[in-house]
Order: sequence, then C-alpha cells, then structure tokens
Amino acid sequence: MEPKKPDKVRASIGTATVLGLELVRSDCVPTTAYLQTYYEGRCSANCSFCAQARTSGASLKRIARGLYPPYPADTIVERLHKAVEAKILKRICLQTLIYDEFLSHVLWLTENLPVPISVSLPPQSDEILQRLKDNGVDKIVIPIDGITEEVFDSIKGNKVDGPYRWEKHLDGIERALRIFGRGNVGTHLMIGLGETEKEAAELIQRLHDIGAYSALFAYTPIENTQLKREKPTLQHYRKIQLLHYLISKNISGIDGMEFVDGRVEDFGVDVKDIVLSGKPFQTTGCPDCNRPFSTEDPRVIYNFPRELTKEEIKKIEETING
Ligand code: SF4
Repeated sequence: MEPKKPDKVRASIGTATVLGLELVRSDCVPTTAYLQTYYEGRCSANCSFCAQARTSGASLKRIARGLYPPYPADTIVERLHKAVEAKILKRICLQTLIYDEFLSHVLWLTENLPVPISVSLPPQSDEILQRLKDNGVDKIVIPIDGITEEVFDSIKGNKVDGPYRWEKHLDGIERALRIFGRGNVGTHLMIGLGETEKEAAELIQRLHDIGAYSALFAYTPIENTQLKREKPTLQHYRKIQLLHYLISKNISGIDGMEFVDGRVEDFGVDVKDIVLSGKPFQTTGCPDCNRPFSTEDPRVIYNFPRELTKEEIKKIEETING
C-alpha cells in the first residue's frame, strides 16, 4: 500500500486555536493535537454512539462533543511542526474515519507529522503496524469502547450492522503489543452503556495484565445518532475512575476488591488520600493527552484536563460516598 497525501485533515477546534487557525476562548488548552482523517462522506463503520457513522444523521463536523472542522493538510502539517518544536504541543493524536483510502492517508500523515504520534484505529495487519512504528508512531490505540462483548456487539458490532468483532479487537491489541511493546498500546473504554463497575474492573485488569492501558470516556449523547441513552451517573463514573487508577498504578487489583450486585463496595485499600490527590479523576490515556472537554459539558466535568481544585475534590468525595 502506497502512502497518499490527503487534501484535508480535521483538527479539533481547540487544536486549531493553538495552531492559530481559529479563535476560541478556553480555560484549558490541549497539550496534544487532536486530528482526524478527512473524508467527504460518512465512515463505513456504524458505531451507534458516533456522529460520523454510516447511518448517523448527525453533523460530520463532530467527534463526540468536539467540533473538528477540516483544514488543508499542508497547513496542519506545517503548523504542527512549529508548535511541537516550540513545545506548545507534546503529542499528535490521529483518529481515523474508515473509507477506502484511509490507511494510505494514515501512512502519509504519520510519515509527515512531527513525533510523538498516537494513532487510534481498528485492528490492523502486523505489516501495517510495523510500518506505522517505522513512521514514528509510538502509541497505538485500538478502541474497544464497550466494556463487555455484549455491549461491544450492541454499539459497534453485529447488532448495529457494524464490521467490528470483540475477539478481533482483543487479538488486534495483543498483536500490536508484540510489535510496540508493553505500555505502548491502549484502548478507549466508554462508560455509561449499561456495564457494571465489576465488569469495568475486570476488563481494565485484563488489559493492564497484558500491558495495555485504557483511556476512560463518559458516554455523551449526540443528537441524531442511533444510540439514545442518558449520560452515566457521576457516582458510577467516579468509582470506575478510582478503580481504574488503582489497577493502572498497581495500588490494588480486582482480586482485592469487593463487589455487591456489580457495584464496588471495597477498593481493597484505603482510598481517602488517593481521592484527596484528585489524580484518579484527571484525563487518562496516552502520555500528555488531556482532551479538554472532548466529551463533556464544561459544567459537568467527567475527566479533568488539569489538576483539580480543593472544592472539586470535596464534591467528588461526596459523590463517591453518596
Ligand atoms: S488516549 Fe488521547 S492521545 Fe491517546 S488515542 Fe486516545 S485521545 Fe488520542
């Protein structure tokens, strides 16, 4: 497969502001540049939560809550080199829409963008993974999104006429780990799709044990997409953030945790000081990824893209103990 230069690339409005292409006021700037491959039509996959899905009626400018307008590829590449050289941005995150030429575009972009680069895409052959690594990609993210096979099938697999299969995604992560190494392969997990806290802990632990990290997202309803549910409760989300932190940092593990009816009753360690640090509630994922307000309403923050204030931590403590 030959690399092919795309005419355009989508960039999050926050990224475009850092690059001087837009002017948007924000209390928190991205430390990673968020890009998506550009295609005039819709993605050929059909994830029910996604604005860009084959059968979605939502605006193509959106990913989750964020706006991603298209810009000329040359402009994005040139400005990103300057922003990374000036240490204004620390990482490039390239997300992919699925269409005939998407891999050729990803190969061209990863050859031409500044490093370090994270690429988020569905499972690929070992040959493509190796070429991405040779192009300077240091983190591969294969988004599972659903916490269980049942949820996965219902949001991006056979129940929504989507191309993805649970086992193939897990196999894709394991193969990517063989090429990129432990700690360099991750996934996105979307919370709020009917999973229990125990199911979330089981998957996070399973991934952690094989050397893969997980980035947590709160499900965010988008108008005119297939999936129609409420956002997760803050208590459910905070508890999963906390158990995710404990597992990821090897402070506790699922074997030491206790669950009743799927809800965590005991985290296996005293969590008071850990909660007071505020760290479990900050954005998770690749190094330097803060995704400011990518999935949230700024009034209700699920993932904090910065350190928390004492007031915010106090509220979280109340929510968890609630
Ligand atoms: S964790 Fe952040 S940088 Fe990594 S793929 Fe996801 S959004 Fe991109």
